[in-house]
Amino acid sequence: MNKPKPKLPQKLSSLLVGLSLSSCITLASLTASAAANDLPKLGEAAGATLSVSEEQMIGDQIMAQIRRSQFLMKDPLITDYIQQLGHKLVAANPDALGRRFQFFVIQENSINAFALPGGYIGIHSGLITASQSESELASVLGHEVAHVTQRHLARRLEQQDKISIPTILGVIASVIAATQDPEAGIAGMSATQAAAQQSIITHTRDNEQEADRIGITMLAGAGFDVRAAADFFETLQQASRYTQMPPEILLTHPLSRNRIAAARERSQLYPQIEHQNSVSYYLVKARIKSIEMVNNNDSFRLLEQKFGKGQLTSIEDRYLYAELLKKKGRSQQALPILKALYKEYPDNHLLLFTLAEAHRVNKTSSEILPELTKQLEKTPGSTKLILATAQIYLDNNQSQQAEKLLLRYADVNQHNPNYLYLLAEAQAKAGHTPEMHETTGQYLLLLGDLRTAKKHFELALNSTSKDPYAQTRIQARLEEVNKRIREVLTENARSRYAG
Ligand SMILES: [Zn+2]
Repeated sequence: MNKPKPKLPQKLSSLLVGLSLSSCITLASLTASAAANDLPKLGEAAGATLSVSEEQMIGDQIMAQIRRSQFLMKDPLITDYIQQLGHKLVAANPDALGRRFQFFVIQENSINAFALPGGYIGIHSGLITASQSESELASVLGHEVAHVTQRHLARRLEQQDKISIPTILGVIASVIAATQDPEAGIAGMSATQAAAQQSIITHTRDNEQEADRIGITMLAGAGFDVRAAADFFETLQQASRYTQMPPEILLTHPLSRNRIAAARERSQLYPQIEHQNSVSYYLVKARIKSIEMVNNNDSFRLLEQKFGKGQLTSIEDRYLYAELLKKKGRSQQALPILKALYKEYPDNHLLLFTLAEAHRVNKTSSEILPELTKQLEKTPGSTKLILATAQIYLDNNQSQQAEKLLLRYADVNQHNPNYLYLLAEAQAKAGHTPEMHETTGQYLLLLGDLRTAKKHFELALNSTSKDPYAQTRIQARLEEVNKRIREVLTENARSRYAG
């Protein structure tokens, strides 16, 4: 398969170099700060531990950088699927209660997954397509959630003597970059330094076993096949047999023979159930493949031939073919395939969303609006249906209706960039300028652009809104953004002092 997009390593490295620079750190400052004895220790006030809010701040900053990058998959269907799957596992772990988790997908063929501080869990698209079952995919998510609840990374960061938050950001950023592109390494860093930094985010054998143990309990609790953890390890082992470089996930989550055996043994403690893959699992895999295959005419022709002969039978292949047709602007041919699939799986919102997309390309979106409205009444909270419906209202110049619908679900979507982006667009078109500024501020905050976010909040505050609570709410948002700007400045100053 040819990949049209540039390879990740450069993209990620340059992004992460950007991250280091914006936090005013150089890699040399890590060693320098480690040597400076009179520096304030991280979280000194809180008894030398990394506080939850510090951990959250580190995670938020890295995530903001990732959100601004091109390699984050912004597709609402893929994002929504991984979020829902992740939260099924979170619900099966009592230690995860009350913590915020966010799952996201990185567009990259390699097999990898990682947990950042603050409950952010990233999965490479290549891991999703390499998984042989939904339970295998769930086993990786559960394992990463366990790393977070057990504070594995946070604890290792705490153990670093005299280390500031920007330095931690740099360590994580540079090591993630090195993991992506081990040959390139990190400019200006010696092998010893690189190894020392890698060791901070590489999980120890004990950590791995603990995460496996808790992960398998979560798999069982969420109703997945508990044997999938060991199965996936074997898939990984197979993958490394034919290449010099093992799958990236094994660099930070070392795999030993013992670990596979332990996972097998542990799975025996639970009832063995055959978990049926959800329809959405197949659709998401196909949707990812369609993004990678859009410029691969050979593969497309093959699907076309199979379709012509009536040999395109699996859900995955049929959806993949329809997606490719849609992406090529041939929505008229995509529509009957999607309609047939939706008829077979009438409760699947992912299919309905895709059908709405095809209708939009075909400029017949009003045809699907009654079905969207009907399904939205049945499941009012479905983000996919809310976004699809609001988008069609906007297409048809019904911006007030789009805004009204979106605002009904503001609370649950305040961390969803796709949602905030669409809401700001609806508010702009509806002529609700102060509200549009407030939403744009929230959106930019998620992207880590604190100063521009602040400007939009100020604009919102200075214009008159009909909402009687607006002033107090925006005032609070402004205070929050000012606090975050101060935190970043303090940490940068601390880091400069260290350097
Ligand atoms: Zn691990």
